[in-house]
Amino acid sequence: MASTLSSRPQLQHLTAQLDELRQKGTHFRLRVLDDMQAPICTYDGKQVINLASNNYLGLTADPRLREAAIQATRDYGVGSGAVRTIAGTMKIHMELEEKIARFKNVEACVVFQSGFTANAGTVSSILGKEDFIISDELNHASIIDGARLSRAKIKVFRHKDAAHAEELLKEIQNEPGRKLIITDGVFSMDGDIGPVDKLCDLAEKYGAIMMVDDAHASGVLGKNGRGSIDHFHCHGRVDIQVGTLSKAIGALGGYVCGSKDLIDFLYHRARPFLFSTSHPPSVTATCIAAFDILEQEPERIDRLWENTRYFKQELARLGFDIGGVSTPASETPITPIIVGDGRRTMDFSRALFDNGLMATGIAFPTVPEGKARIRTIMTSEHTRGQIDQALDILDKTARKLGILV
Ligand code: PMP
Repeated sequence: MASTLSSRPQLQHLTAQLDELRQKGTHFRLRVLDDMQAPICTYDGKQVINLASNNYLGLTADPRLREAAIQATRDYGVGSGAVRTIAGTMKIHMELEEKIARFKNVEACVVFQSGFTANAGTVSSILGKEDFIISDELNHASIIDGARLSRAKIKVFRHKDAAHAEELLKEIQNEPGRKLIITDGVFSMDGDIGPVDKLCDLAEKYGAIMMVDDAHASGVLGKNGRGSIDHFHCHGRVDIQVGTLSKAIGALGGYVCGSKDLIDFLYHRARPFLFSTSHPPSVTATCIAAFDILEQEPERIDRLWENTRYFKQELARLGFDIGGVSTPASETPITPIIVGDGRRTMDFSRALFDNGLMATGIAFPTVPEGKARIRTIMTSEHTRGQIDQALDILDKTARKLGILV
């Protein structure tokens, strides 16, 4: 029998907000993947070229990783059975953490259920209400939520503006509270790179803790995809490095790298670690095998960058606004196509899908009002033919809708 809950008055404020989104043209319906993430896949029964996933290195479908997941399920079952601190720490969890710590060249690592919980769980637990967080205005939502949960005082600097970050640090330099400087390594909506080196200089000058969220830099920037810290040669200068296992690594999860004491502290105080069940063996084994592939097949990252350069160059040649004027210029495989108006962006995204291209429209509040865009992500696995076909669909659809004239 159909539920009648939606007619109950208690939730009518939600219905009203949804109606508002519908009026603005930014209400969306979830697209459903019928097969698996790949450059060509099937959403809602339609085969499309996929420019929407974070599957940078094509690992979600890699046969070796699928086999690792199946073998781990055979050997260790489907679940860990408890939170890590009670009875849910398996040998395979420790193996993954040691592997990531070696890969990142740090003392220790702890894996969380997601990149979101890694950020939020860390920021919220290491600071208190006497402390200060100096945060880039475009940092990820998980950093913002973690900062709010910490109850520390939050000071937001203009995007990538280290001079502004320094002004904020000067204002509080005589305050007794601890200071944390935090930036994304790669910003998820614009694809630009955070000024990690300059912020490290500030952290050292003002005695602040330095933290970088490398969700979109892991597997993408630096030697073998070691991330933004390697890209900027800032080894040993970043106290807390966060990464995700859900994007280039192809599976699910997040991790925090740093000193032994930092990780031991998070074992004792990070709430998602303490109060939420750990990964199943299948996910953990997949990630272990994925780090082996990062070490053994750097050519995937070379292909990713080759595809990225070609795609960006051709988008610009066709006349698309791919950032750099009213929005930051992308420097990575995330390339926004700026449209501006939310409704127009969503219409463009739907028309692209109808013409065979999956490219997500992103509007306010995920990006600022007036900066709505189609967000594209290139992978190492797209062929030149697929990229050319995607460009052709983008060009023809944009001209038909008057986005390109
Ligand atoms: N940080 C950034 C910059 C991200 O883009 C994301 C994913 N949207 C996350 C953290 C969270 O990662 P996960 O999807 O693994 O929770």
